[in-house]
Amino acid sequence: MATTAGAAKARFKNFSGYKDFEDHFLALCENAKVPAEISKIGESVEGRAIWTVSLGDADPSAPGVLYSSLTHGHEFVAGDMCLDVLRWFLSPENRDASIEMLSRARAHFLPVANPDANERAHRELRKYGVSFARKNANGVDLNRNFPAHFYPEGGSPVMASNLPFTLVYRGEGPLSEPESRAFRDFVEKTPLRASLAIHSPGRFIGYPFCHTNAPCPHSKEMRAIADAMRARQPFFKYRVGSEFTYLPTSGDLDDWLYEEHGIFAFLLEVGKLGLRFEDPATWLNMYAWCNAPEAEKEIANNLDACVYFARWAAGLEK
Ligand SMILES: [Zn+2]
Repeated sequence: MATTAGAAKARFKNFSGYKDFEDHFLALCENAKVPAEISKIGESVEGRAIWTVSLGDADPSAPGVLYSSLTHGHEFVAGDMCLDVLRWFLSPENRDASIEMLSRARAHFLPVANPDANERAHRELRKYGVSFARKNANGVDLNRNFPAHFYPEGGSPVMASNLPFTLVYRGEGPLSEPESRAFRDFVEKTPLRASLAIHSPGRFIGYPFCHTNAPCPHSKEMRAIADAMRARQPFFKYRVGSEFTYLPTSGDLDDWLYEEHGIFAFLLEVGKLGLRFEDPATWLNMYAWCNAPEAEKEIANNLDACVYFARWAAGLEK
């Protein structure tokens, strides 16, 4: 499709590729009526730029909130969710509420954490109508590549693998990938109180730990925040719990953010699993698993919850 700058609801499935997303994202941010600082935080294996935008004029040392998505390149609905939260902040309709928050805490957006896989997903979908573009160009699952319990202790049943052909290959070592290092560098220079990593599918809101079933020291407070998000879901009430109860993982972004930096790191899994036994077209198509047809309603279902999350980070909600 043509560049969609200005279109209110451009969706990843309609972008022609990563470049088209970049054009849309940069135009959206450049036309923002609130202070918006666009940064290139690094480059992917294949040399694509990784972008963030930071909104607001809060004291840069005040802890902010980060929304990220497309760490797995084919989870288009997660990227659409992230962009809709950004659009909420930029919309003239929400100007007063947005400014109230942004004067207390900056809101940061990293909509495509894995640009090469996102580009590959577009290409595969165009060519074959299916996509498995989860991992980066080195075949690494970026959400298993962070330095938190990278090699899990005691043979716990944790989902990460040393085998490069698996979907959850952790890579040669912690932060072996340029995309994870860009994420790390951004976090290390950006004061953050809270992070919401948006993925799909699963209809789930989670928080650390990821690597063990033991409750994390802040699990009570985190559970209350997740419950408050759930209370703001109008159509579907998602399950809430520790990320281990959803999917045990090691080398996970959220354990690292929480344990290393004390950031309240949450996971939002948008939408139902799109694998349907009555529909063979969904059987061998990871894109279909992660982008169920009711995507628009699922995104609308989570918008208030995501805004609440920023209000909490800004100290406007308990
Ligand atoms: Zn994912």
